[in-house]
Amino acid sequence: MTRTVIITGAGSGIGAATAKRFADDGWNVVLNGRTREKLDAVAAELPEMHVRVVQGDVANPDDAARLVEEAVDSFGGLTCLVNNAGIARGGEPGALSHDDFNAQMHINVGGTFNCVTAALPELKKADGACIVNTSSVSGERGDWAMFGYNASKGAISNMTRAMALDLAPEIRVNAVAPSLTETELTTDIRDDDALMKRFSDRIPMGRGAKPEEVASVIAFLASHDARFVNGVVLPVDGGLSASNGQPNFSA
Ligand code: NAD
Repeated sequence: MTRTVIITGAGSGIGAATAKRFADDGWNVVLNGRTREKLDAVAAELPEMHVRVVQGDVANPDDAARLVEEAVDSFGGLTCLVNNAGIARGGEPGALSHDDFNAQMHINVGGTFNCVTAALPELKKADGACIVNTSSVSGERGDWAMFGYNASKGAISNMTRAMALDLAPEIRVNAVAPSLTETELTTDIRDDDALMKRFSDRIPMGRGAKPEEVASVIAFLASHDARFVNGVVLPVDGGLSASNGQPNFSA
């Protein structure tokens, strides 16, 4: 069976790793992002016959509609939508600007809404259709100085659960909730040795995730093996969220 996936934010990090993983698993892969050069570089590593690049901004409903249209023109249908594009802007209440708050809501939440809205008519025609959203551990609990990001990822986690109710049984909707992952988004954190030490103290596995370790869980959620998994927000966090937040008494 030919399966086609759209992956947003596929020019780097988790999205790029997810594109590679789906291509390895035999999917047609449609890469979306804002920067053509980054998308072309990812596409160059994938089988030419099975990959398309559609540049665009997920926060723009017209771009989302064109993304789905070009995917269907290229491959004749759509089986899965991976809503991965996202940004993070830090700042405590009172310090986070309106622009930064709104940008996170428009891209992270609005982008997911736009792509789902555009993709639904096509997903409804497909066998084994699904949506996988990229939430975060930051969507399940709060971070210091990240409340705008927390709000946007909390919205994605709960949209996931609510859409899973509305769209079953035809379309499954799930999400991954990674913690610290080695991507451009976390360069500043990973350059700070003292902060990384505190991260590794909080993550039982003692390290951040590789993008491929998140991509493989997204691929699982999209697979036939996960055909009865619906409405979950699956932590991919090395055990971080298993803790109640208290420090390690035995360390
Ligand atoms: P990243 O910055 O490498 O990837 C995000 C991608 O989204 C970039 O390629 C960016 O260009 C693209 N993008 C941003 N705005 C867009 C828009 N409006 N339209 C289209 N594309 C857009 O970082 P990443 O860590 O790979 O992030 C991927 C997802 O994972 C994000 O949703 C992020 O919030 C989430 N996440 C990341 C971490 C982490 O620690 N890296 C942890 C939890 C969740």
